[in-house]
Amino acid sequence: FVERNIGFIPGRRVASIDNARKVAILDDGVEMQFDLFLGVPRHRVPDVVIASGMAENGWITVNPRTLETNYAGVYAVGDGANTGTPKAGVFAEGAARAVASDLIVKLTNSGTAKQYDGFGTCYIEFGGGRIGKVEVDFFSGPKPTGTYHEASLALRADKEHFGSSRRARWFGM
Ligand SMILES: Cc1cc2nc3c(=O)[nH]c(=O)nc-3n(C[C@H](O)[C@H](O)[C@H](O)COP(=O)(O)OP(=O)(O)OC[C@H]3O[C@@H](n4cnc5c(N)ncnc54)[C@H](O)[C@@H]3O)c2cc1C
Repeated sequence: FVERNIGFIPGRRVASIDNARKVAILDDGVEMQFDLFLGVPRHRVPDVVIASGMAENGWITVNPRTLETNYAGVYAVGDGANTGTPKAGVFAEGAARAVASDLIVKLTNSGTAKQYDGFGTCYIEFGGGRIGKVEVDFFSGPKPTGTYHEASLALRADKEHFGSSRRARWFGM
């Protein structure tokens, strides 16, 4: 950040935006001028999920290993499901795989469903073509474990394969 002259302000959040003045106001009252504001809105389930009554404390209660909700035959995957794993696409993908496996077992009346393993990979761009990687495993041991792979140029191919293999599988691209 220092190299690129980027300021990092930990422990503060943007409380409001004054668009007319192009100012972001932090929760301690500090005002920050901006040309372009890029922000992620507060994370929550859509109103339709709240209205359904499936959410408890804001998120849908599920069995973290099978993704079954408290309603028979209803599953929840993705950010709305309270699995205890991070709310990231890679975890939604793993959870969806477990649901698909469970549905196939139920429909075909054979085999054993593969449970959600809580495993995910996250790539971190360091600039200059270097990529770091974190692999986390939430459920296979007594407590979550993680492995960090130092940023390198070699990991770029790994990241590109992560993306291209999914584009091929999901969209035939
Ligand atoms: C800035 C940012 C960066 C991220 N980076 C990563 C990353 O690098 N790696 C990673 O794994 N994850 C990343 N994530 C997280 C990832 O995007 C989410 O975990 C993932 O998209 C969750 O999938 P989902 O299907 O549960 O929800 P979503 O992708 O949010 O899909 C929900 C969909 O439901 C639609 N919807 C809402 N209400 C209704 C309604 N009433 N009727 C019909 N449709 C409705 C929404 O429009 C939306 O399309 C990032 C998220 C953000 C915000």
